[in-house]
Amino acid sequence: MTNDLECRDLTKRFGDTIAVDKVNFEVPQGSFFSILGPSGCGKTTIMRMIAGFLQPTSGDILIRDRSVLDVPPNKRPVNMVFQHLALFPMMNIAENIGYGLRRRGMAKAEIARKVDEALDKIGLPGIGNRKVDELSGGQKQRVAIARCMVLEPEVLLLDEPLGALDLKLRERMKVELKALQAAFDTTFVYITHDQSEALVMSDNIAVMNKGRFEQMGSARDLYYRPATAFVAGFVGETNRWSGVVERVEGNVMQIQTDSGLSMRAAAHDRPLKVGDKAQVFVRPEAIRISRKAEDLQHFDNRLSGQVTSLLFNGAASRIIVAAGPEEIEVNLPQSGEYADIRRGDALHIGWAGDQGNCFAGGV
Ligand code: ATP
Repeated sequence: MTNDLECRDLTKRFGDTIAVDKVNFEVPQGSFFSILGPSGCGKTTIMRMIAGFLQPTSGDILIRDRSVLDVPPNKRPVNMVFQHLALFPMMNIAENIGYGLRRRGMAKAEIARKVDEALDKIGLPGIGNRKVDELSGGQKQRVAIARCMVLEPEVLLLDEPLGALDLKLRERMKVELKALQAAFDTTFVYITHDQSEALVMSDNIAVMNKGRFEQMGSARDLYYRPATAFVAGFVGETNRWSGVVERVEGNVMQIQTDSGLSMRAAAHDRPLKVGDKAQVFVRPEAIRISRKAEDLQHFDNRLSGQVTSLLFNGAASRIIVAAGPEEIEVNLPQSGEYADIRRGDALHIGWAGDQGNCFAGGV
């Protein structure tokens, strides 16, 4: 498979700040790639270098195997969708979508054909004569993408494009954006600090922290096999403890947490030693609950406690169980057995050691 985009040792310094530090990645043709990281980690700086608005301090950017460092922004085969869509309010929808093509001097009939084709692809045929403010937020978002896509960029860069939308629309647009990417069969590079956006839409995700890529992989890889403590804490919901390694059995560590619990967790990639500081991450869905301690005998991690909170959210409901000094978030099973669970109820919880992820270092 060929790559549409490749960055090699891409680096950007602003004075003493290293905003982007030797970042390497390849984006295969027609795929959806996301860069996920907290505010200030360097995401926008990468996008601006790919678009050509910023020159890298060192490293290279290749589009379809050709370095674009000496290509000015308007000549690069990329286009960018920003958070604030900046559709032109004085133009109708067709004029907005055809804007870039007119600037390129394309014949009117050809523009009209391309605009109609794009409107079909975004599922809004026949709205070319409408004004911008007659559209919903989601429709405007689709028009903004169509306006970029008629220019047939090899790579579309999307900088937090859902940030300005309300929660419900954002949820819907996640599904729509993925469908649009498939409809246009174009490579999308998407940056966001919202892990749920990245997990839902992407073929591949890079998790970025302090200018570097911590891990690259599919949503499943990042979720189930985080490579670093940062990824384990940033992607998905998790319980988290810090402590010290007491015993090592293959890749399963026995950890004494700072709060005095003893638990087992797997250190998949980097083995730890007795006495090392460690962080343990356990997802709420990895933990089972029962009213009877004997039901959980087969788990190597078992605790007893009391329900302190009920977090109702339909099928995704959770409870918080206080076990000694710890508050542990646990998925609430859907079986009717726990429908009447109350705050203050006594409960047992258990999970398999290899369901936890353990990494070196303190918090
Ligand atoms: P956000 O999600 O908040 O937009 P980001 O991950 O996109 O954050 P960047 O905007 O790429 O982060 O910024 C990365 C780092 O580089 C930050 O420390 C920022 O202050 C710094 N930075 C960005 N642009 C400049 C600039 N023009 N001059 C100096 N420092 C800059």
